[in-house]
Amino acid sequence: MAKMSFSYGLSLFFMSVIPGAWRRTAAGAGLLAADGTVAPTIFAEMSAAAARTGAINLGQGFPDEDGPSIVLEAARQAIADGANQYPPGRGVPDLLAAISEHQRRFYGLEVDPATEVIVTAGATEALTASLLALIDGPDDEVVVFEPYYDSYAAAVALAGARLRTVPLRAPGFQPDLDQLAAAVTDRTRIILVNDPHNPTGAVFGAEVLAEVVRLAQRHDAIIITDEVYEHLAFHATHTPIATLPGAAERTLTISSAGKTFSATGWKIGWVHGPAALITAVLTVKQYLTYVNGSPFQPAVAVGLRLDDAYFTGAASALARKHEILGDGLRAAGFTVHAPQGGYFTVADATALGGTDAAAFCRALPERAGVVAIPLTAFVSEARRGEYGGLVRFAACKRVEVLEEAASRLAALAV
Ligand code: PMP
Ligand code: GLN
Repeated sequence: MAKMSFSYGLSLFFMSVIPGAWRRTAAGAGLLAADGTVAPTIFAEMSAAAARTGAINLGQGFPDEDGPSIVLEAARQAIADGANQYPPGRGVPDLLAAISEHQRRFYGLEVDPATEVIVTAGATEALTASLLALIDGPDDEVVVFEPYYDSYAAAVALAGARLRTVPLRAPGFQPDLDQLAAAVTDRTRIILVNDPHNPTGAVFGAEVLAEVVRLAQRHDAIIITDEVYEHLAFHATHTPIATLPGAAERTLTISSAGKTFSATGWKIGWVHGPAALITAVLTVKQYLTYVNGSPFQPAVAVGLRLDDAYFTGAASALARKHEILGDGLRAAGFTVHAPQGGYFTVADATALGGTDAAAFCRALPERAGVVAIPLTAFVSEARRGEYGGLVRFAACKRVEVLEEAASRLAALAV
């Protein structure tokens, strides 16, 4: 381990004696060490490793190219036009209208822009505000598929509820419906689904989505669905859970401009659902950030109104990138679990001696000049062994970067 400076060591010591909700949040995310200190997230750790070693960063999921220039130009224009003060609490009216139009155009969903949608600081705030707003106490349970996006466990812990997980197993990463049914009980307050799924790349089958709705109805649970990769499904068009019979009245649908328009730093997200649930979420959200991103909001409205070719083109370009990455990983000796959607390809490193994917990923920048994330970062401590050989690679990079990464990884095969 690297030598710690005296003041850094001291600050960690003080950290370990500071009481507060940070502690259960860190513990929920699996970042609290036995000595009471807190580790950085895997994304921060691996992006720092990439910066330190000059390795190609296929860890944290962010594109290395800008999105549509008309959307970028709209943000510049909005700044020039003076959209630089607080926007309305629910969001800029033009963006609220554009979200509503988008949901009707792609999915046939009717969303009242005045009462049934709010703009948030990314999908992350929409998720955290929704969980904080709707969890009522330590006996409430939130059911999620595991592996899960890291903020889920952290936010559920912050909100003070219990996480119940249903495993997704390679190769298809679809849940076992009996295990799903067993996990949902009258204690279940929320079923939290991410589709297309980070990190596995799964797109859930119609029978899985229908079972989520059936169980939510039976146990009177709310469905929160994180659809940030909605336009990045490769084989079939995306089906929002809210379109299923009986679902809309109990579903909060979350998405974000980050992935759809390659603008992850803009942090413009949204959540829509029944007016009463949205008011509950707004009540919490307004004390987290109040509002955000006034010049970016009208720009995202421009993006959401782009023609169909933009959206299908984005999905097919990313599918091609996954193929390049997948070919490189196979040539290097990985077993590849080709994704059905989203930014990430999961590969099994066992044949390369990577039975402990966390150790494998920590060594990979020096060994091959590539950064990736172990799937164990997305699972609870009890299940880490089951995902020990699996590694997540981001495909949302320029083709030449993926080709260079593939040729570097090929060195592992020799
Ligand atoms: N949910 C999932 C599944 C994600 O992968 C991400 C980020 N990549 C987010 C939520 C967060 O989205 P945002 O950056 O809009 O907060
Ligand atoms: N969602 C992105 C990922 O999964 C970025 C996450 C983050 O940096 N918090 O890589």
